[in-house]
Amino acid sequence: MIEIEASPWRTMVAHAERTYPNECCGAMLGRVVEDKKLVTDAVPLDNAFKGEQAERYELRPEDLLAADRAARDRGLDLIGIFHSHPDCDAYFSETDLKNSCPWYSFVVLSVKNNKFDHANSFLPDIEQTRADTEELIWPKS
Ligand SMILES: [Zn+2]
Repeated sequence: MIEIEASPWRTMVAHAERTYPNECCGAMLGRVVEDKKLVTDAVPLDNAFKGEQAERYELRPEDLLAADRAARDRGLDLIGIFHSHPDCDAYFSETDLKNSCPWYSFVVLSVKNNKFDHANSFLPDIEQTRADTEELIWPKS
């Protein structure tokens, strides 16, 4: 289960809506408490994909490393990655699976007509052959 606090959630939704109609991406920082991941911070990152960004995102490895370092400096962990799907549902695509890492949660935000619509979280397996849905809690307001 992954729960996102109000402040990082606002950051994620704002980043997704601002980047529309392109895909956005970013890092989620927080703590793991027993079997629950609590996201307390979100860091918007650049979509570094050189092609059509409406359908794809790419993270720079150095940006992810910097986010990981920032998390550690504050006694937090890098919990996962978020990205948006403009005018598309929050599913985990073949490309998403191919670019995934099994130790992170992947939150996908669906943005329709420039407004946040819904979100899902996914846990890719080690072989990157499938990703199960993970229970996701975000502030409903
Ligand atoms: Zn995607």
